[in-house]
Amino acid sequence: MVQVGRFKIVSVVNGTFRLDGGAMFGVVPKALWAKQAEPDEENRIPLAMRTLIAVDETSDRVVLVDTGAGHKWSEQEGERFALQPRRQAIAQGLSRFGLSEASVTDVVVTHLHFDHNGGLTEWVDEPGAATRLRFPQARHWLHRRQWEHAQAPTIRDQASYLERDLQSLKAEGVLTLVEGDDPPPPWEGMRWMLSHGHTPGQLLPLFDGGSGEPSLLFAGDAIPTSGHLKIAWAMAFDLYPRVMLDEKKRILELCREHGTWLAFPHDPEIGGVVLDLSAGRPIIAHELDL
Ligand SMILES: [Zn+2]
Repeated sequence: MVQVGRFKIVSVVNGTFRLDGGAMFGVVPKALWAKQAEPDEENRIPLAMRTLIAVDETSDRVVLVDTGAGHKWSEQEGERFALQPRRQAIAQGLSRFGLSEASVTDVVVTHLHFDHNGGLTEWVDEPGAATRLRFPQARHWLHRRQWEHAQAPTIRDQASYLERDLQSLKAEGVLTLVEGDDPPPPWEGMRWMLSHGHTPGQLLPLFDGGSGEPSLLFAGDAIPTSGHLKIAWAMAFDLYPRVMLDEKKRILELCREHGTWLAFPHDPEIGGVVLDLSAGRPIIAHELDL
């Protein structure tokens, strides 16, 4: 657990899965990436799906950032990604604060790829029929550009959006859509960063450390694991690779200038890091106790 400004923050692994190692590292040769992420016989590397839980005890605000792939998967569908949801992980994380899923006030939905927010909903009854929200009392924050993109993705990324994940979200009043290029902070102690390189309107929460103290950025799929800190080590899934490159530079510049900490969505081992950028390239100074 780390304290960042008003918030106490933990990172919980809500499930594990595997994706093609080549797709995860784009133009980087396997001879290089395989040294740090060992592929299985299908060339897939192990990944986690992480939820940040951030609690501000002074205002009773309980924030989740991303909810993973969820558990609407049949065994057969899940096998393709070696998907192993941990149904209780978020509840267990909340119990460290003496809280339950019913206490969640806000969910930050970075983007709607199935591995980030399939966990927002679950089947009401039998699989394949209706879904319901898993955190119905919480405000769900999503950028309008991502919401609009999810309705009409490109051929390149349409497999990342599952209709069953969007069903319940389409109901009136469920989403709080964040607007524009420079959205105002949703509440005290956190503000938004936007990233469009991976997918349009990816919403990244920056927890504000306060005067002189480091802040914490949930890097989303801009920097999915500690293996993606080097600028060129970017995912082939990125819709706009050149944009992503510039955005990643900006994020690392933020870390260099302000000592901002990073939290990852997919690192199988590390929730987050403090970087040393004094040599001009990102070196992990130490891992965060997230
Ligand atoms: Zn992802």
